[in-house]
This record gives sequence, structure tokens and C-alpha cells, in this order.
Amino acid sequence: MATIGFDTTLVHVGGRWTPCASGQTLPLIDPSDGSELARIARGGAADVDAAVAAAQAALDSGEWGRLTAAERGRLLLRLSARVAEQADELARLEALDVGKPLKQGRADALALARYLEFYGGAADKVMGETIPFTAGYTALTLREPHGVTAHIVPWNYPMQIIGRSVGAALAMGNACVLKPAEEACLTALAFARIAEAAGLPAGALNVVPGLGEEAGAALSAHPGVRHVSFTGSVAVGRLIQAAAARNVVPVTLELGGKSPQLVFDDADLDAALPFLVNAGIQNAGQTCSAASRILVQRGVYDTVAARMAERYRALRVGRALDDPDVGPMISARQRDLVAGYLDVVTTGGLRIVAQASLPATLPRDGCYVPPTLVGPVTPDHRIAQEEIFGPVQALIPFDDEADAVRIANGTDYGLVAGVWTRDGSRALRLARKLQCGQVFVNNYGAGGGIELPFGGVKHSGHGREKGFEALYAFSTLKTVAIKHD
Ligand code: NAD
Repeated sequence: MATIGFDTTLVHVGGRWTPCASGQTLPLIDPSDGSELARIARGGAADVDAAVAAAQAALDSGEWGRLTAAERGRLLLRLSARVAEQADELARLEALDVGKPLKQGRADALALARYLEFYGGAADKVMGETIPFTAGYTALTLREPHGVTAHIVPWNYPMQIIGRSVGAALAMGNACVLKPAEEACLTALAFARIAEAAGLPAGALNVVPGLGEEAGAALSAHPGVRHVSFTGSVAVGRLIQAAAARNVVPVTLELGGKSPQLVFDDADLDAALPFLVNAGIQNAGQTCSAASRILVQRGVYDTVAARMAERYRALRVGRALDDPDVGPMISARQRDLVAGYLDVVTTGGLRIVAQASLPATLPRDGCYVPPTLVGPVTPDHRIAQEEIFGPVQALIPFDDEADAVRIANGTDYGLVAGVWTRDGSRALRLARKLQCGQVFVNNYGAGGGIELPFGGVKHSGHGREKGFEALYAFSTLKTVAIKHD
């Protein structure tokens, strides 16, 4: 068994590490070889109750609630520095737990540090306004924390998602209850330990691992929670929104995607190619903003397909700790789901343009699938409509700009889109016409862009995280009107 370095079976409530109320644990599986890596607490409703109460106490009577914005900011900056110092260890934990190649895990850890730096720097710069109003009044607005905020996080980018939601919530003075995914808890637990060592007051951050339908459902429905941030699937997003509706509290839903990159005849293909492939295979395609559809204008279709194929054939698939280009899927379940889509490709008469090979030396019980490029795919085919959440990209030819926009907007999702063209007017037109939360022109993802507001439209969700915008999402506006002479 790999060394983890701390007791993984505990929940973190009110600054204390204890077994969960039921005393039960769940297995964590290393997807690189299918072995049991560790056990985690099976937190449930009683643990969530305790965590929400501890968070509320931290606000009402604890040290956390007494800190000024500048003091919160300094704390987050200190935490950022500690996270950055431990980036290699966090990457190792993520490799074991998620199957994420080391360099990607390290990038995630540094992104977490950068979120904390950004939100630490911003904590004392969020201001209200004074409003010109009727004579005899002074009117002003105050930005206040919601109170206790819930953060329900998936397994694919735990550190980045903790950074963007917990980081912003803490900066605004909320007290957080974090429910990591049952498949991947290690970096969430490690983060809480780093935060504790950096001096984050008790109760400001509570962590309750457990199953979604137990700990997650209890947290999203808890009447003491004043805001729910959820990142995950559309199906669970609907449940979260319904639960929050019963308590009449705001939710941020960061859900799935079927994001396109549009490649026009005039595109700089040398610049585009690394982004076209990487945005499909990064984290084994288990990325909400994965570019799972590559729309290519017919004049360059064959060239793009051939050049992407070359890259696919060179991809190295392997165990996460060996730092390959592509690691395993998170779980056997996810591997089988993706394998089902590959069956749809082969039995449905679609052509595999290129497929990376799986080395014979990979552990038999590892959760590997071969990265696969498919095309041409018609826009309404399942492979071009459903979020596969694996390293499978569909090449879709298009005729002209109008055709490209129709195809790009023709799914239930709307998370991000990329446009590759040398025509500036076209880039601006498309930036307006594409239905999604972020448009990238002649790049894809902007290197993570933690400063850039992020979120979806349609089934990709609503609300925005990242950037300064998240500070508004994690606060509420109070208006004060003072009558005087
Ligand atoms: P999931 O919805 O199954 O799980 C996400 C989280 O919700 C986990 O912590 C899980 O325990 C919890 N959960 C499950 N059932 C619950 C319930 N009934 N009540 C409350 N909580 C519950 O999603 P997943 O499979 O872990 O993640 C993959 C999905 O997440 C994909 O669709 C992906 O696109 C999406 N995602 C979106 C973003 C984004 O920013 N838009 C980022 C990453 C992942």
C-alpha cells in the first residue's frame, strides 16, 4: 500500500479530526492498478449537522468571524505559499487517488495556490457603494458573506475546484463545509491539514467525506447552509437545485459540457494542433471543458485529421506515477462507460481516425482506455451529443461560418468554445454568437485563467466562479438607507 502520510479515515469538523458518527469507512481505489489505496470516512447526515453547526459557530462566536477582511486575505496568502511548497506531494496524492499524471497534478496544486493568492489579495478590495438618493438620505450598500456555504466537489479536478470555490468563499468571510467526491478525497483532506497548519481558525473549513447520496444530499438540503456551490453531473445538479430551492438559497451549478473547437480554413494550424489534441486527452478526457468536438472547415479537414492522428499515435498511456501523457480513468465504472461509447463507434460504422495504443505492461486491473479520435461524425450522432468524459474526440466537418455556429450551438450544453481563425471580424462575430460561458480565440483554456469568470449556459449550469465574479457569488448585497436632516 502507498504511504499517504496522514489518517485518511477522519472527518474534519470544528478544527478537530474525528471518526465519522457511524464509524464506517469506504475504500479509495488507485485507478492505475485497481488496488485499495486507503479508506475514507463514510460521513453522513449527523456529520453534516455537526459540520454546519461548527461553521456557524466559527462565524458567530469563533475567531474566524472576528477577522477583518485584510486578516482573512493574509491568511489565504500564507495558505497559498504552503500549498505551493507542497505541490509535489499534493501531485503525488492526486496521482494515486485520481490517476492524474504527476505534471498535471502539480499544475493543479499550483493553480490552487494561485487561487488562494488571487482571493487572498482581493479579500479587502470588495467594496460597496454609496448611492445618490433622495434629499435627506444617505444610501449605501454592504457586501456581506452568506454565512455557511456548502461546496460539493467532483473527483476530476479536486484541487482546482476547491481553490475556486472555497478560496473565494473564505475570502468573503463565509465558513465552508466541503464534501469531496467519494472516489477522490486525499487532496481535500491534505488541504484541510495544510490550512490548519497555516493558522486557519477552527470551523472556517470543515470537510466531510462520504457518499453523494448520503453526505452530499444531507449537505445540499441542510437548512443551515446559505449557499451551495456544486460541480458535477447534470443529473445530480438537478437534485442539488431542487434541494436548495426548498431552503430558498442560491446555488452555483458547474456542470458538464460538450465543448467545441472550431477550426477555419484560414487558421494557424501549427498553433492550433497542440490545443486541439491536448484539450481532448488532458486528464484522460475527464475535464468538464474538454474539447470533445473538433469542428473543421472542409478545406482543411483532411490535414487536421491527419495531423491530429499523428499526435494521437504518439501519446504515451501509463500509470499516473510514471507521468505519462494520459493516465487511467478514475474508476472501473468510468472506464466501462467510455468503453461502451467506443463500442458505439465500432458497431455504429464510425471510422476511428487514430487510436493510441495501451502498453502490454499496464496493470490488468488498471482503468485504462485508449485515447481515440473518431471522424467524420455527423453533428446529431450520440458521439457528438453526449458528454463521454473520456479521451474520445469527434471530428465534425462544416461548410461555412453559419454551419459552424449551428453545429457548435446544437447540443444541450454550453460551457466553453474555441475558435481558430486569422479573420478578426469573424472571431468577434463568433464570440457573440456562440452559446457558452467562455470563448477562446486562437487558444483554448487560456492556461487555466483563474482570473477569468467561468461557468455555463443551458445544461452546463448557471452562476460564475473564478475571477472577481466569484466574490460576488459568495456574498450578498445589503442596502442601507439612512434618513437624516
Ligand atoms: P457527480 O455529479 O456524480 O458527483 C459530483 C459530486 O456530487 C460528488 O462529490 C458526489 O459525491 C456528489 N453527489 C452525488 N450524488 C449526490 C446527491 N444525490 N446529492 C448531493 N451530492 C451528490 O459527478 P462526477 O461524476 O463526480 O463528475 C463528473 C461531472 O462533473 C461531469 O459531468 C463533468 O463535466 C462535471 N464537471 C463540471 C465542471 C465545471 O466546472 N463545469 C468541473 C468538473 C466536472
